[in-house]
Amino acid sequence: MTSVLVVEDDPTIRTSLIEILTAHGLLVRSAPDGFGALREVTQWQPDAVVLDLGLPDLDGADALRMIRGLSQVPVLVATARDDEREIIDLLNAGADDYLVKPFSGGQLVARLSAVLRRCAVGAGALEAGEAGPAGGAPGVDRAPVVAGELRIDPMARTVHLAGRELGLTRREFDLLAFLARNAGRVISKRQLLAEVWRQPYVDEQTVDVHLSCLRRKLGERASRPRYLHTVRGVGVKLVSPL
Ligand code: CA
Repeated sequence: MTSVLVVEDDPTIRTSLIEILTAHGLLVRSAPDGFGALREVTQWQPDAVVLDLGLPDLDGADALRMIRGLSQVPVLVATARDDEREIIDLLNAGADDYLVKPFSGGQLVARLSAVLRRCAVGAGALEAGEAGPAGGAPGVDRAPVVAGELRIDPMARTVHLAGRELGLTRREFDLLAFLARNAGRVISKRQLLAEVWRQPYVDEQTVDVHLSCLRRKLGERASRPRYLHTVRGVGVKLVSPL
């Protein structure tokens, strides 16, 4: 059973979130503040966290960083402010996705399922329903690409980091392979949607979510990247660390 920690100080909202998630078959626990959340993340080790940013004891972004310091659990942030800069900062601080309040139960469940699915770890895990339009990796060359300790083999569709195979989803693989073939070049999210997703009109947030999962599997953070460097307002580039 998938377990979810709901972090929310408002008792009415908290109760309603718990009801919605429980009704969808999730095992739910809650915390009313940031320190309670940190305790649950450490002790209960939920599969995902829904984190309200307006908490009484900790600034939401700080709570997020502290959770990230303890765990790689997927975090879905609920924010009251629809502020692009703040949202980018949250994604850079380790949020996997976000919802802007007020949101519906349907939105919550959809985003949460997507985060859980995208971050599902496991060698060779494929994302059901996310197959590329042509059934294959779009435009991938056949020769292996090496960048630092990263080795990407398009034929075998495997990625090794320092000799260890990473369990990437199909989309994460295509994204990483595309960035690696264009190493050193800044690629915009629009361009990634067009080249990797082949769906230029999909929300750019999709790219952020996949980059966030990919970063985690590469063992790095947006704030201290080794391979995947965000160029704010422009896009992302893969660099070969020295
Ligand atoms: Ca609140």
